[in-house]
Amino acid sequence: MTNSRNAWGHHDCGQCKKSFFPAVYWFDSIHAANYEKRIIIPFCSPKCVQEWYEKNNAISFPLRKPPFPKGPEWKVIYDINH
Ligand SMILES: [Zn+2]
Repeated sequence: MTNSRNAWGHHDCGQCKKSFFPAVYWFDSIHAANYEKRIIIPFCSPKCVQEWYEKNNAISFPLRKPPFPKGPEWKVIYDINH
């Protein structure tokens, strides 16, 4: 699940729920070993990134180490706006 676009083609901010586009900031579970599935959480602003990280104590998420999961679900994502 890598497509986080809503019915309007926008993103819903993972913190404040605002609908916005395009996304510059997002959380990608490929970096966090505590997620079994791929999730992308877009954020509308650095403020929301920080609030979500603090709320979820994301700073202590374990880093995913190689070998990284493979398959379409785990492809490298450089831009979530397309
Ligand atoms: Zn937000």
